Order: sequence, then C-alpha cells, then structure tokens
Amino acid sequence: MQRIGIFGGTFNPPHLGHLNIVSKFVKDFGIDKMLIIPTYAPPHKSSPELVSPEDRIEMCKRTFKEPIFHISKVEINRQGKSYTHKTLQELKELNKNAEFFFLVGDDMFLSLHTWKLPNKILEYCTVVAAARSEEISVKNLIDYSKEKFPKEFSEGKIKILPIKPLKLSSTEIRDMRRAGLSIKDFVTKETNEFIEARGLYFD
Ligand code: ATP
Repeated sequence: MQRIGIFGGTFNPPHLGHLNIVSKFVKDFGIDKMLIIPTYAPPHKSSPELVSPEDRIEMCKRTFKEPIFHISKVEINRQGKSYTHKTLQELKELNKNAEFFFLVGDDMFLSLHTWKLPNKILEYCTVVAAARSEEISVKNLIDYSKEKFPKEFSEGKIKILPIKPLKLSSTEIRDMRRAGLSIKDFVTKETNEFIEARGLYFD
C-alpha cells in the first residue's frame, strides 16, 4: 500500500526547520509521496506580513525540491477555512489505496484535542508529532497523547518522530528581514534568492 505523508503550514516563509523534520519523517516512515499543503488565509484575516499564496507556493517549490515532494493547492484552491478532517477526507477519496501519515510540530500537536473532529482525523491517518525545540521532550508528547487520546495512542495512531530539533520559526525569519539581517542560513538558497528578488518581508 502506498504511504502518503502530509505536512501543512502557512509557510510564510518555509524554512530549514520545516525541511529538517519532513526529511527525517520521509526516511523514518518510509513515505512514498509527500504532500506539502500551504494553507489559505482569507484576505480579511491575514496579517499584513502574510505574502500571497502564489509566492508561498513558489517558496515551497524552492524548499521542498526532491521529486518525492508535491506541493498541493487543495487548501489554497478551496479559499475558505480548511479543516484538517475535511482535507484528509478529500485526499482519501482521491487515493483509496493509500495509507496517510500526518506530520505536525509540537505546537500544533499539543492542541490536537481542540481541533475540529480530532477523532475523525485519527481515523483517517496516523498523526506523527515532532519536537520543534529541546524544551519539548518525547516524554511530553507521549504524556499528552496518553492523556487526551489513550485509545488512539495504544492503537498506534499517534507516533513520535525522534529528531534533533532545529529551533527556528517563520516569525523569526520575518523579524530578521525587517531588521535588515541576512536569512541565508535559515532557508534554502533558492528560497533566499526569491525572497531577495521579490523584496518580501520588508515593511
Ligand atoms: P510562524 O512563525 O509564522 O507561526 P512557523 O515557523 O510556526 O510559522 P508554520 O508554517 O506555521 O511555521 O508551521 C507548519 C508546521 O511546521 C507546523 O506543524 C509547525 O509545528 C511545524 N514547524 C515549524 N517550524 C518547525 C521547526 N523548527 N521544527 C519542527 N517543526 C516545525
């Protein structure tokens, strides 16, 4: 059975922290096809710092370059608010013979119980959590899983990705740009060139 990985985010911009966890995830979980799903953010809600979906897609292409990666427009094309369970349901209908693995960083994972229909999400896929910094341990992630989703955790529907975290966020990168600092060590070369050429994240 084909194993499809899913990784969603604002990707404003995508950075080496993203690439670090996705690359390890693809290897450790034997992923055959990796979907990168930039979220749509409705214009009235978006922060002035949020660049266009087209620019974020282009930066994703310049970050997730290997042929295994597919940049999906499923949420951007929907234009409204996208719930994860809805996106997963749609993807499952399109790929009936695949098994789905959904990768999330610790900040997202530790609020899974507040998402819409988390039990449906865990029915559709295995959720894989990864620490973003040394402050969150594997034990923290396991304790949370056992407390909020004991049944799903014991059934192996929640897994932890062992990883050496790369502490980095898009917010920090935008802040560096605004301060006139180089971000070249935190994004791919191709993404850096695009950000420079388009003059993104300068006020
Ligand atoms: P922002 O600072 O704008 O909130 P972000 O850096 O958190 O952005 P997102 O696009 O919101 O990036 O994140 C997409 C996914 O990547 C989420 O699951 C998030 O937890 C995860 N993630 C982001 N940065 C890292 C990192 N350094 N290491 C591991 N996972 C990360």
